[in-house]
This record gives sequence, C-alpha cells and structure tokens, in this order.
Amino acid sequence: MSCDFLSLALPNVQTISPYVPGKPIEELARELNLNPENIIKLASNENPLGPSERAITAIHNELAELTRYPDGNGFVLKTALATYYQCAPEQITLGNGSNDTLEIIARAFLGKGLNAVYSQYAFAVYPLITLATGAEGREVPAKNWGHDLEAMLAAIDDNTRLVFIANPNNPTGTWFTSKTFEQFLSKVPKHVLVVLDEAYIEYAQNDNELPDGLTFLNRYSNLIVSRTFSKAYGLAAMRVGYTISHPAIVDILNRVRQPFNVNSLAIVAAASVLTDFDYLAKSQKINNDGMSQLENGLKSLGLTPLASKGNFIAVDMGKNALPIFNQLLSEGVIVRPLAGYGMTNHLRISIGLEQENEQCIRALTKVLRG
Ligand SMILES: *Cc1c(COP(=O)(O)O)cnc(C)c1O
Repeated sequence: MSCDFLSLALPNVQTISPYVPGKPIEELARELNLNPENIIKLASNENPLGPSERAITAIHNELAELTRYPDGNGFVLKTALATYYQCAPEQITLGNGSNDTLEIIARAFLGKGLNAVYSQYAFAVYPLITLATGAEGREVPAKNWGHDLEAMLAAIDDNTRLVFIANPNNPTGTWFTSKTFEQFLSKVPKHVLVVLDEAYIEYAQNDNELPDGLTFLNRYSNLIVSRTFSKAYGLAAMRVGYTISHPAIVDILNRVRQPFNVNSLAIVAAASVLTDFDYLAKSQKINNDGMSQLENGLKSLGLTPLASKGNFIAVDMGKNALPIFNQLLSEGVIVRPLAGYGMTNHLRISIGLEQENEQCIRALTKVLRG
C-alpha cells in the first residue's frame, strides 16, 4: 500500500488538472500497431514545414561545446532579438519555451492571497502556473469564444497582479484589434502586469487587424510581450521563447529564473532563424493555403470552424467530439480534443501540409459518414 501522496501535496497543487499534450506519433503507432509513416499529427500547432536549414547548421556547429554550460545570459540570442526589434537587450528575458517565461512571471508575482485574471477557453498553461503558486485564478467568461476584455477589466481588484491574454488565442483562434487592446490597456491599473502572449504573431505579418504588442511597450510599462520560436519559426523541440518588457521587470524575473534555463543549442538555433525570412514566408504561405483548404473541407462536411488567425482551427462537431477524435486516431490522424477546455463538442486541428490536410478531411469524411 502506498501512501496517499495527493493528500500530502499542497492544497493548491491538488486542484490543478494536469496538462494533456497532443499524442505523439510514435505512441499512437505503438498503441494501434500502425506504421508511423502513415500517421499524421495535427495536434500541437507545430510547423509542418520541418526545421530551417539555418537552425540545423547552427546546431551542428555548436555540438563541440556540449561539455560547457550555456551562456546563462543568452548574449547571442538577446543581441539578435534586440537588433531585430530595436529594443534594448536589457528588456529581454529568455525562456525554455515561452511556457518557462510565463511560469517565471507567475512565480515572481503571484502567491497566496493574490490573483491572476484570464479568459475562459484561454491557453491551458495560465491556470496551471497560477494555481501552482497558491494564487487564485479568475477565469472570465468568454465572448464569442474570445476574450471579453471589458469583463476582464472588471475582474481586476487590488489583489490582482497579472492578466494573461493570448492574441490570437489558443485553442479558439480568436483575436482582438489594436484599438480594442489599447482601450483595455489604458484602463488597467498600473500595479497590474498585462502579459500579452503572441505565440502566433509571425503568422499574421502584414495583417493589420492584429496588433503588434511591441508597439505599446513605450507607453505601457506594465506590459509584457511574450513570443516563441515553437510555432512559425519551427523550433518547438528546442524549447525557446522570450519576453520583452520594461528592464525593471526583467531584473525581477532574473531573480526567479534558473541560471541556465535555455540550452546552448536552442540559443544558436533561435538566433540563426530569427531573420530567416524565406523560411518565415514559406511557413506563412503553407499556413494561409492550408487554412483555406481545411476551412473549405470542414464547411463542405457541414461543420462550423471558428475563424482563426493562428495555425490551427477549432471546429464545432455538433456533438461530443471525443468519439470522433478516437475514430480519427484509428485512421492515423491525431487532432486535439478540447474537453479539457470545456469545449466538449470541438476539435482543434493544426494546419498541416497540403497532403496532410487532405488526409485529415478524408478521414473525417469517412468517420462522419460512418
Ligand atoms: C504554443 C503556445 C505557446 C508556446 O509555448 P512554448 O513553451 O514556447 O513552446 C505559448 N502560448 C500559447 C498561447 C501557445 O499556443
């Protein structure tokens, strides 16, 4: 008999629902005895293009240094980011994925008696990192599946330290405009830090509906903009993300950050792809084309996809989506059920390559027609 360890965990930790990741291809291959080459994964919003050649070369060139600790200050990457975004290196905090930076922020500013505000259907990591600190998570009801910024403003009180906002939002793909965001920011009390998570922003280049969070930093010192190399930059496995904020905030985050949180391969890989504009353009084109292809395919099946500015689509299946998810698995198609988000009738499908999208629609057609 083992001890009831859960009862020993901190009360706030007991309330956390574990994050459920997209199912890995190899796992499904083992479970169903399928050939991994016949399985497609459209479940974790990964870049279907494969890594940039620049990243592979940079990683190769760094391999001889594996015995050394990485540069804990990430000089090479911070310099590249500061040059590209015309900000000071002192405004940048690097993370082992942006999830790491988000957690560092939570650990630095939240605790018992304090709270963080975020939206219903927002990224699952926000409640996770909030509750882990013992703080209260204030989930504000969504409006049309997206952020209701006015209601979020109303949820802020003296004990609020953080507001987490993703634009566009994952898993819904919803977004708000520059004007809406500024109206919100201008009313947020100065003691509240606004964390704007722009994990998908590179897909929206030349899209004037989606604000560029960095343009607000000069006027709002309580804003933290979070970005990642996991999505359009195609480096999800390397685990590297960053925030840009006021240097005084960086100083606080550095007190909580593990000294070598970003590894040396990730640092050089990220620095090498930051200005790989050919790669980015290709990623955007695949995403735009694939988005239309999937949207049309879903609509032709009589389904209702939510309009999305990410690299994924949430689609209403009109009934419990879990059985459909499981039947798709048997067809070798891995998508993401959203019951964990309280969206039991929706599936989230990441945009893949043309033939992957086609395979997904074909499998879905077969499953729905029974
Ligand atoms: C995918 C995603 C991230 C990225 O997380 P990493 O840790 O950088 O891989 C961050 N925020 C949102 C909303 C996401 O969907």
